[in-house]
Amino acid sequence: MLLLSGPNIAGNEWKYVKDCLDTGWVSSVGAYVDQFEKMSAEFAGTKYAVATSSGTTALHICLVMMGVNADDYVITPNITFIATCNSIKYTGADPILIDTDPGSWQMDLDLLQQFFEEETEQRNGVCYYKKDGRRIPVLMPVHVLGNMCDMDRLIALAKQNNVTVIEDSTEALGSYYKGKHAGSFGLMGTFSYNGNKIITTGGGGMIVTDDEALAKKAKHLTTQAKSDPFEYVHDEIGYNYRLVNVAAAMGVAQMEQLPGFIKRKQEVMDFYKKELQAVGDIHFQEVADDVNPNCWLPTIMTEKQKAVLNILNDNKMQSRPFWVPMNQLRMFTGNIFYNKNNRSDFVYQRCLSIPCSTNITNEELKAVCEKIKEVF
Ligand SMILES: *Cc1c(COP(=O)(O)O)cnc(C)c1O
Repeated sequence: MLLLSGPNIAGNEWKYVKDCLDTGWVSSVGAYVDQFEKMSAEFAGTKYAVATSSGTTALHICLVMMGVNADDYVITPNITFIATCNSIKYTGADPILIDTDPGSWQMDLDLLQQFFEEETEQRNGVCYYKKDGRRIPVLMPVHVLGNMCDMDRLIALAKQNNVTVIEDSTEALGSYYKGKHAGSFGLMGTFSYNGNKIITTGGGGMIVTDDEALAKKAKHLTTQAKSDPFEYVHDEIGYNYRLVNVAAAMGVAQMEQLPGFIKRKQEVMDFYKKELQAVGDIHFQEVADDVNPNCWLPTIMTEKQKAVLNILNDNKMQSRPFWVPMNQLRMFTGNIFYNKNNRSDFVYQRCLSIPCSTNITNEELKAVCEKIKEVF
């Protein structure tokens, strides 16, 4: 089976994990956690990084720190992986779902601007949804598939409208907008090390920020909010959201290989583009000139989506449809879906992701392309 986007364990993973096992430093504290955080902050170009148990818990903690609660809304794209909306719901808040740009498959910024202009009002520097007076404290963009939208415009819109940006940059490790790394635009950004992401720790996540107080608070909240080094004194409701040292050991080894992984993902994307773009009715995600994406998960758009999915999966080449848009899931059908002709559904009906593990060979890529071409 050719995996869609599988782990590539090719560096010092065994060595560093063995070191944890040999020394007994397997659990919640250890040198690899600190090192992984340091490497992640350096890579993202932020001052601080705090490791978490997953990308989902990283997002949740960011929202908790902003005081997001059941009286609030959080704005997010309608096409994203479920974890974004789950993290919002954990706080009790509801997502406001913004429709998709059919070219870049990111949140449509024209619609976002229109939403702010027509549906919100500002009172004392706080953004409210006009219809019911609920607060909108946070905008959570998602860098879908490692692509990025016009971040200058997004950040300007957020400033104008008094909402804090928390980036779901979990798919965008290694993606840049105007040379600045994803996750470093908002007050906080997040990464995920789930098995199919560009690097993996089995499961894990990271919060990155330039704000020292928030970084400290994130560490505190993710480690049960223990406020005394000796006694079990806790000063608020905390969470057990830390990343264990064994996983961080794997993370350090994966970070060492990240530049090579990014390069390979980009090569895989180029390979597919070269082979498939001329085939007809196969479209790729539009990437703006000032975006340098990590090409995490090559995805094609075609009217023949079902046929391509079938032929690839029947031939043991793992291929997956896009995520079902949030407004089509039963938990969110009642939520605000700000859209123009429901373009999310248009994108969803046509997109599929194709095999792109960093250790895929050119022969395997060629074979995938041959199968796809059979459909056309
Ligand atoms: C992977 C991912 C997450 C976080 O996933 P975890 O499995 O919890 O690490 C969040 N949002 C998006 C868009 C993702 O793709």
